[in-house]
Amino acid sequence: MTGLAHCLDGLRCSTCLTLNVLWLDPVRALVECTECGQSALIITDPDEGRTA
Ligand SMILES: [Zn+2]
Repeated sequence: MTGLAHCLDGLRCSTCLTLNVLWLDPVRALVECTECGQSALIITDPDEGRTA
């Protein structure tokens, strides 16, 4: 089945810091937190984690 969101096991929400509450929506290409409702685009940035 395609187009269904699924849980991202082992990942932590960067907003509320809760584990295993992030769901990947492959259709909209975003991750949404079921705990705080925060959503973010999936961006793979090798420099992520660096403070500007
Ligand atoms: Zn959250």
